[in-house]
Amino acid sequence: MAGDGPFKLDYAPSREGTDIVTIEPRNRLFIGGELVEPRSGRWLTTLNPATEELLAEFADGGADDVDAAVAAARRAYGSWHRRPGRERAKFLYRIARQLQERAREFAVLETMDGGKPIKESRDVDIPLAAAHFFYYAGWADKLDYAFAGRRAAPIGVAAQIIPWNFPLLMAAWKIAPALATGNTVVLKPAETTPLSALLLAEVLAEADLPPGVVNVVTGGPATGAALVGHPDVDKVAFTGSTEVGKQIQRALAGRPTRLTLELGGKAANIVFDDAALDQAVEGVVNGIYFNQGHVCCAGSRLLVQEPVLDELLDKLKARLSTLRLGDPLDKNTDIGAINSRAQLDKITELVAAGVEEGGQLYQPACTLPERGYWFRPTVLTGVTQSHRVAREEIFGPVLSVLSFRTAEEAVAKANNTPYGLSAGVWTEKGSKILWMAARLKAGVVWANTFNRFDPASPFGGYKESGFGREGGVHGLAPYVRLEGDNRG
Ligand code: NAD
Repeated sequence: MAGDGPFKLDYAPSREGTDIVTIEPRNRLFIGGELVEPRSGRWLTTLNPATEELLAEFADGGADDVDAAVAAARRAYGSWHRRPGRERAKFLYRIARQLQERAREFAVLETMDGGKPIKESRDVDIPLAAAHFFYYAGWADKLDYAFAGRRAAPIGVAAQIIPWNFPLLMAAWKIAPALATGNTVVLKPAETTPLSALLLAEVLAEADLPPGVVNVVTGGPATGAALVGHPDVDKVAFTGSTEVGKQIQRALAGRPTRLTLELGGKAANIVFDDAALDQAVEGVVNGIYFNQGHVCCAGSRLLVQEPVLDELLDKLKARLSTLRLGDPLDKNTDIGAINSRAQLDKITELVAAGVEEGGQLYQPACTLPERGYWFRPTVLTGVTQSHRVAREEIFGPVLSVLSFRTAEEAVAKANNTPYGLSAGVWTEKGSKILWMAARLKAGVVWANTFNRFDPASPFGGYKESGFGREGGVHGLAPYVRLEGDNRG
């Protein structure tokens, strides 16, 4: 949106180079510490969503490949879980340092494969992924303190299935606590963003992680389903849509396999009339336009107290006109490409439904690139609680605005959703923050900020946002069997 905003800045792009990244034309599976051809004989392709250019082929793992990966993880488990915690920690520290050393390479690759702005992959995804490995390295030899008075043993082979919105970060969230506690892993990345998990596999091999401790099986939904259904998997950790989470829960019903689900969200970002409005606007923008709104905990429902509704909307619209949409590799870009054609179609359909149901559409003027998948930052006002855009997860840069008069009404509206992952509260009163936080049914409540993540802080949902926690000491629990616990 260069020049479209009120400031009319002259603009010079600053494009991150791609030479640092080498993408193999064909990418094999990582099983037993080696790159292997898929037994399925099938390959899929991954595109750069900002250009629609083919980036690479990758293996479409079939049931035999899943079987080989689970067998490799089982073999590796025998010696891995017997290593002292301080030994496992050494590997995790090594992986963390390698991620830091190769941070630029990972950031560029993540942006090329997923469409997110380079400033986000560089400043958020990759540093946080490294931080998770550092954090759980610290726990590996202190598990006796994490579960005071009880001995914690690993569970066994963990199947981990992740989505496309934070590909490397989701892999780190899953792998780091699993390895710290002595489990072995089969990871299934999402089909539109497999490349950073495969680069991570290279890092794991360079870190001399024993073969089979982590295996990466790429592929689509059928690969994920084969992994979930494998009889020798002891634990399934899934991050993705609520719909698929329910399918997985049904598939595992009656089996002793342990399960954690990190699913969708429809967070309320609640602005009271005593809030610092300019600061709140920044939080609202970060809450819904960060990573094109492809964020499970995105603040997709803005609830504003009526006395400040008009003022806040004016400030928000002015701020939106300064956002820069375009080439994700440009270091100045705020809004990158939508991850896939399918996601773009879903966003387009839901926004059309929002307008059909009576919402008023606002989008700042901006030119969309000719190729690639793009969606303007969007605000829908006049939304009511029954509208689809207020109920369904859009997973795009679309904000639905509602208003409220009292704190009680804000709580009722915020909780009127099947989801319960996150919420935001903006007010100058600490007492109001505590009052709200006690009543909001959300795994995370941010106060006068939004989308803050730290490896020491647990993250996870209630209701249809799933169960189980990742991050913090809580994130160890899903990967251990405590003495006296007779489940599975
Ligand atoms: P998705 O559910 O379509 O896919 C997620 C992963 O599951 C992919 O790897 C996919 O191949 C695999 N999969 C699909 N069908 C499967 C099946 N039947 N069995 C096993 N695996 C299967 O989700 P998505 O579109 O990739 O990701 C977006 C969703 O993820 C959003 O709903 C978002 O809210 C959610 N998400 C949640 C969190 C969280 O921590 N709560 C974090 C990130 C994303």
